[in-house]
Amino acid sequence: MTASNELRVTLLGTGVPIPTPDRFGPATLVEAGDQKLLIDAGRGAAIRLYQLGVPLGRLDALLLTHYHSDHTSGIPDVWLTGWLASHFGTRSRPLRVIGPTGAKTLMDNLERAYALDIKIRIADEKLPPEGAAVSVEEFDADGVVYARDGLKVIAFEVDHGDVIKPAYGYRIEYAGRAAVISGDTRYNANVIKYGAGADLLVHEVAAARSELMREAYIQRIVAHHVTPREAGRVFAQARPKLAAYTHFVLLASEDVAPPSLDDVLAETRQTYDGPLQLGEDLMSFEIGETVTVRRHRG
Ligand SMILES: [Zn+2]
Ligand SMILES: [Zn+2]
Repeated sequence: MTASNELRVTLLGTGVPIPTPDRFGPATLVEAGDQKLLIDAGRGAAIRLYQLGVPLGRLDALLLTHYHSDHTSGIPDVWLTGWLASHFGTRSRPLRVIGPTGAKTLMDNLERAYALDIKIRIADEKLPPEGAAVSVEEFDADGVVYARDGLKVIAFEVDHGDVIKPAYGYRIEYAGRAAVISGDTRYNANVIKYGAGADLLVHEVAAARSELMREAYIQRIVAHHVTPREAGRVFAQARPKLAAYTHFVLLASEDVAPPSLDDVLAETRQTYDGPLQLGEDLMSFEIGETVTVRRHRG
């Protein structure tokens, strides 16, 4: 549990669709007092929560940014493993899911896909049926989507490309602190607006070496994200206490290596000279008077 006035953000997965063990799929844990929110549930989110000792059943809500599968493929694991009667599960109430339009369709169909497992475990393991239930709340505009005991989450629309809609980011407010998660987006004024003066601004990023940037398919991918130079412009205008990267889209081909983290850093420094952290899986940000960065040990 975090101290009652502390807000903590932990990057569970800082990766993208690439199935590497170093960076799991996009997922971020937000802890405020005794509340725990999960933002996106990419590949391996359940494993990362287990590594932190956070029972899957302890999540107060799952918030979704958009419906690319790398952000949602861990949902069945978090949902159904969180229902099991072991110390890592034990959810006996419905999983609360909050997302832009589309959340209901996704969760309805997952319930359909796993109907037989749910039926079997209720009959065989006598698990409480409410624990396998899902309660979904959808939104379609900027605004408060979660508010309880001083913890407030505001959704704001971002721009992930002309046909990748809906796509949202989240601003989390607690005890006078604010953390902002960009979600997947191109350079977007709404991130600057909602990220203004935040204690922590976590942004996605995409890069490729110049020889690869000549390829049309690489240009198409990068156009759905921000380059380090563009992210730097966002940070320079929003001026968070600490800026951090997650969701590293580091593009490569058989002949061209991906850009290094040093490359990402150097390009960001062309437009931003403030505090910046390159995120990694299980890196935590403790937000109090200052923002303290911690790496997971063991
Ligand atoms: Zn993504
Ligand atoms: Zn995406």
